[in-house]
Formats: sequence, C-alpha cells, structure tokens
Amino acid sequence: MLYTQNKKYDVIVVGAGHAGCEAATAAANLGSQVLLITLDMNRIAQMSCNPAVGGIAKGQIVREIDALGGRMGLITDRTAIQFRMLNRSKGPAMWSPRSQNDRMRFSEAWRQELEQQANLEIYQDEVKELILDGEKVTGVRTLLGMLFEAPNVILTVGTFLGGLMHFGEIQIPGGRISEPASIGLTQQLSDLGFRTDRMKTGTPARIDARSIHFDECDKQEGEQDFHRFSFLDTEHPKLQQLPCYITYTNEESHDILRQALDRSPLYNGQIQSIGPRYCPSIETKIVSFADKLSHQLFLEPEGEKTTEYYVNGFSSSLPPEVQLEAMRAIPALRDVRFFRPGYAIEYDFFDPTQLKPTLETMLIEGLFFAGQINGTTGYEEAAGQGMVAGINAHLRNDLAKKEFILHRDEAYIGVLIDDLVTKGVDEPYRMFTSRAEHRILLRQDNADMRLTPKAIELGLASELREQRFGKKNKLRNELIRFSETFSVLPENINPFLEQIGDTPIRQKTKLKDLILRPRLNMLTLAVQIPPFLTRIEQLGKMKEEVCESVEILIKYGGYIEREKKQAEKLYRLEEVRIPKHINYEELLQLSTEARQKLSRIRPVSIGQAARIPGISPHDISILLVLCGR
Ligand code: FAD
Repeated sequence: MLYTQNKKYDVIVVGAGHAGCEAATAAANLGSQVLLITLDMNRIAQMSCNPAVGGIAKGQIVREIDALGGRMGLITDRTAIQFRMLNRSKGPAMWSPRSQNDRMRFSEAWRQELEQQANLEIYQDEVKELILDGEKVTGVRTLLGMLFEAPNVILTVGTFLGGLMHFGEIQIPGGRISEPASIGLTQQLSDLGFRTDRMKTGTPARIDARSIHFDECDKQEGEQDFHRFSFLDTEHPKLQQLPCYITYTNEESHDILRQALDRSPLYNGQIQSIGPRYCPSIETKIVSFADKLSHQLFLEPEGEKTTEYYVNGFSSSLPPEVQLEAMRAIPALRDVRFFRPGYAIEYDFFDPTQLKPTLETMLIEGLFFAGQINGTTGYEEAAGQGMVAGINAHLRNDLAKKEFILHRDEAYIGVLIDDLVTKGVDEPYRMFTSRAEHRILLRQDNADMRLTPKAIELGLASELREQRFGKKNKLRNELIRFSETFSVLPENINPFLEQIGDTPIRQKTKLKDLILRPRLNMLTLAVQIPPFLTRIEQLGKMKEEVCESVEILIKYGGYIEREKKQAEKLYRLEEVRIPKHINYEELLQLSTEARQKLSRIRPVSIGQAARIPGISPHDISILLVLCGR
C-alpha cells in the first residue's frame, strides 16, 4: 500500500550530497515547494573523500556558485581550518582558492542551512522508483512505501547507484563506507532507455594523529589574508586554523605494495571500470611511474577537534593489512594506527549526452540528473551542476521564464555542463583550467561580476548580496577612474623607482600607467603616494578585494579585452538556435557520423553542434542553411 504526504511539491531532489543540497536550496530560494529525500540525514553534504574544498579550477567553481547565490562558499568559509590561494606564482587566471574543512562541521552547517530554508522539507528514506505518466515524471516512490508527487525530480545520487566497495578481496555493496548502496533506480532507468555504465573511484585510509611522528614531516601552514570563498562578508576564519604535513613514500613501502599487487582489485581483474586518471591510487602510481622512488603524501586534518587525519596521495583498494604495512614503512608513519582503511568503489553513472544543457533528461520530461550520476567527480563539480539543475527545475514551473544556461565564456560551470552534454565522458570528469578556452575571463576574483547580475535577475541573490555587489562595483569603477585621472610627479616617485631598479619617469604620469608596470603593484604604490593611500583607505573593509580586482583589470586589461572579443565572435554561433524537432536521419547531405551524433546529442545551437567531436565545418554549413543563415 502506498502512503502519500498529501502535498504536491514543485521539485523533489533525491540525495542530499553536494549536488542535491545546492539544487534543493536554489529551487526553494526561488520559490518552488521542494522536498529533499536522502538516505541518511546525519550525512548531509558528506565529504566522501578529502575534507577539502576548491583547488585548481574547482576553487573558481565554488566562487561561481557563491556569486549565483548558492551556499557552498559560505559553508566552506564558516568551517575552514586552513585556507590557501593556489597558483599565486602564475597569472590571476590561474589563482585558485582551496581550503581544508572540518568534515563534521561542514555537514552540520549544511543541515542547518537546509533546515532554515523556506519552502524546503527534508525526508529520510530511499527513493526506489520514479513515478511516470508516459514520458513525464510525476513523483517518486520510496523504500518505506511513501509516494511523493512533483512534476520535477532531480536525481543527485552520487556514487550510490549499484555501489560496490572493494577492500582487497573483500567486496561489500555500499554507496560509501558503512552506507547502503541504492538498488533499483538504475534498472528502471535502463528499462526506460537510458544508457548507463560503471565508473570507479577510491579513497585513502584515515589515521590517528596520535600515531603520527609530526616532527619528521614538513609543516605546511595556511594563509590568513582577506581571500575566502564567499563574496559575502563572512567573518573569516572562524575555526582554529591548522597546518597540514608533508611526508613521502619510499622504496620499502613501494616493495610492500608491489608484492601485493595480485591482491589489488585494480590489477587482478576484480575492478573493470575506469577511475580518475589524475587522482590515481598508490598502487597505480607505483606501476605507472615505476622509476619514481617516492611519492609525496599530505597529512590533512579532518577537523578542528578530532585526531583523524586524511592521507592525501595514498588512495588504495589493497587489503587493509597491506595498506597498513606499506604506510608503516614510512618513518613518520612507522607507528600509524588506522581509524578506517582506504577502499575503492564502483558505481553506475549515466551518459550525460542524454541531457539537455539545463540538465533535464531528453527522454523523460521533468527528470533532471546532477552530480556524480553524470560521470563527474568532485564536490565542486557536483554542486555547480546542482545549482543549474535546481534553477532550471524551478523555471520549468513558470513557462514564461527562459531556461538558465551558462555559456563557456561566462563560467567554469558553463564549460563543465557544455562538455558533459556535448562530448560525454569516458573517465570520471573533473574540472581543469585547461578545459576553459577563455580562462582569463573566468577568474576567481571576478566570479561576482560575471554571475551576480544573473542571480539578481533570477531572484536568487539576497538583499545583502545585491547591496554588497552594487557597492563593490561602484568602488571598483571609482578607483579605476581615479587611477586614470590622477597623475604622479617625477619627484614624488622616482626615488622609489630608482631604489627598486625600475625606470624613472620623465614627466607627470598617470597612476594607471605606473600600475601597468610589472614590478609595481597598487599597495606598494599607495605607500609612496599619500593621496592614493587615502583613496584606498576610504574603501574600508572592501579595500583589498577592490584593489585586487582593479589591479587585475588594469594589468591584464589588454588580454581581457582581446579574449572578450574572441569569445563574442565564437559565441555568435551560440545565438543561432537549432529547431527542436529536426529529424537528422532525413538530412542525407550530412555525414553518417554527423547524423548519428546530432540525433543523439540534439544540440540546442549551432555553437554547441560545432563542438561535438566529429562534426565537420561542412556539416555545420548544412545546419546553418537549415537554420535560415
Ligand atoms: P554524493 O555526495 O555521493 O551524495 C549522494 C547523496 O545521495 C547521498 O547523500 C546519498 O545518501 C543520497 N542517495 C543516494 N541514493 C539515494 C536514494 N535512492 N534515495 C535517497 N537518497 C539517495 N571526488 C574527488 O574529486 N576526488 C576524489 O578523490 C574522490 N574520491 C572519492 C572516493 C570515494 C570512496 C567516494 C565515495 C567518492 C569520491 N569522490 C572523489 C567523489 C565525491 O565524493 C563526489 O564527486 C561528490 O560527493 C559527488 O556529489 P554528489 O552530490 O553527486 O553525490
């Protein structure tokens, strides 16, 4: 017998992981009545792998989520126990914020956020089946027999579908250590015609700090400047800031691992599916880089008040006793005790080319997929997709509103979703800066300038965010104007320029032209030029943030403008929409490969069609004629 909550929701989100939490809050924040169903309310937004957020390209995604009015950035700032800006030695397009986080507090903070969100209800159960009306989704049925109705369902089930964990020879069905797998949905979706396959990922052991010889490791402290993830004024940092430690594997530990390779599910045929290439297990590293005598390991705290440490770089599916023995061969870890061993997990994912750029499936109306279910890996990639799915699920309730799609020159989230739906995945997809062709436009510092106007238009930005954004914009423009109009006299700056070995100026020079010089930056100039210093001090709490933004715009203005023009040219094709119901099989002028791929991917624009691997300029010219161009 089926029970029903006797309420019609607008959106049901299945799974309170990183994708599900952002999807649910985004849709609820926009005004949809949302139900979030998850297996375990004590593990909301659980960090399945390392207790860290951001990193190269991923940090930019978190800033984008925040700029759009999402929560990941705020929660990350609130629960950070270390913060660093990676890639500082490179250009600002590469700067990427990263933090260590208190795993338990991160989850707790998310739960509070969800519980305080208007229009959002949470229910703990397992979704077993989608309820359909022809090719439309109308609700879900749970393991405990509950029936919930909604015209939009977002599946964000992570690594749980058909999850199978490997601890050496021991195999245990599960979605994550000590959590059950989710069985049933894959079969139903396959029966409906969805293409599915298996992927694999892995995680290292967690160890007890009381058994680590920290004095034999290198210490890595975080940074405590103004940088953070959220563009809102969070007090940062709130928790005690902790260092990470670095140690190395050695030949002895490699020998122990090598001798046990036949017990590794990755090498004895037990695991067949593909794992993330850029995040290899320790056994893969000793095989693929056989000539390397040691590998770096980061020992990362799991929280402010716990002795649990994560061993970054030692992911393994070998039997726990082999992992322990190999770790104990490392001097700093000679007495190490495990809290939990490492393991690998295989799970079902769905080919993301079955999705529209809104993340709605092409096969079933109102059904969305976001996160690891789409073949991605990483909390940030999942959360970014969650935002887009949540917004679009809400927008579907209001036919007058357009779909929400981010383009490749607007956001890493746009690059991510475009790659997924246009090219598909053949290994777990993680974001890299190299995937973005316009990375000078997609910087961490300007995510608010790129996306907060969209959040305001959608109704996702809070009043506070809107005000802060307006103020920052105004201060930034005023400071740019000041630097373009204020002139510096030679006698006021030349002694300093000579001191640092820079060319003196001969005549009155605009401040902007000095900022442009590679050896000079705004803050050192301000110390030399009192009126400029006064101007900067007037910016108050926002001074560092505004100065960073202005300095980048001045120093890299030429590149930025060039990139913008290129993007505009490229994305003109994005404006040429392809009619929805074209039967590509009838277009015999197209190559066979183009007919097959276009029928499968169904691009929404000529721009998207041109990015499908195997679609030639000749195919594009035929499509252009079809679109009346
Ligand atoms: P998840 O965070 O997995 O959340 C899924 C949620 O759905 C869970 O709350 C679950 O309870 C719920 N759920 C599942 N099925 C149902 C159902 N039927 N009904 C109701 N609720 C359901 N990422 C990296 O970037 N690098 C790594 O090295 C890495 N290693 C990993 C190692 C392991 C062992 C695991 C498990 C994951 C690893 N990840 C790694 C992946 C990372 O955890 C995910 O990319 C990220 O958590 C995905 O977010 P998500 O929201 O899609 O899913």
